Amino acid sequence: MALRSIGLSDTLQEYLLSVSLREPEILRRLREETAAMPRADCQTAPEQGQFMAFLVRLMGARRTLEVGVFTGYSSLWVALALPPDGEMTACDISAEWTAVARRYWAEAGVAGKIDLRLSPAAETLPRLLAEGRGDSVDFAFIDADKLNYDAYYEGCLALLRPGGLLAIDNVLRHGAVADPQDTAPETGAVRALNRKLLEDERVDISLVPIADGLTLARKR
Ligand code: SAH
Ligand code: CA
Repeated sequence: MALRSIGLSDTLQEYLLSVSLREPEILRRLREETAAMPRADCQTAPEQGQFMAFLVRLMGARRTLEVGVFTGYSSLWVALALPPDGEMTACDISAEWTAVARRYWAEAGVAGKIDLRLSPAAETLPRLLAEGRGDSVDFAFIDADKLNYDAYYEGCLALLRPGGLLAIDNVLRHGAVADPQDTAPETGAVRALNRKLLEDERVDISLVPIADGLTLARKR
């Protein structure tokens, strides 16, 4: 679950949203439609979507990449923050969930900016590299299956330009990463990547405790 920020009381979470969330109406509708779906808790929290859109604007990002689209909530925040010539390559394996995303991208007028690749991201990322897209991406967001996080990290890092920004989601796993009793393979995979990043000289890092934990890694 990542619909809200970890460690905040209900009162403070509500306050934070009440004084800082400027969620466009179309994103609110997408969030409401997604809330009625079985895997609704996969969706990015509104304050995190807004934060990523903020970063994209701050950097003036034009070329973006998303690994894990679901119903399109995070991709729509980012796509709406792109300049007219901005673009996004979006990776997912679910035609069903991304059909919802496509509907909202179209309604928001950003469908033409988004190239959806429906195949396992561990295959799509090397394919993008083979297409000559290395060192070209300004902003990338990793939010798909956790067991492949290391492969996604390496793939995105190769695609990012120097100075480009990578955001990695769910790095706190609702606290599971800090619980020695938790031996789930997904927890292990995220823990291993978190530890690797600390020593990784290829990036500058910051783990931001928003939503379920978002690591920002800037390619050196
Ligand atoms: N960023 C989304 C949430 C993503 S949920 C949002 O803000 O709403 C994780 C997504 O990863 C799901 O849509 C799932 O279909 C996708 N996924 C799972 N395994 C994948 C794989 N091997 N390759 C690409 N996408 C995958
Ligand atoms: Ca997530």
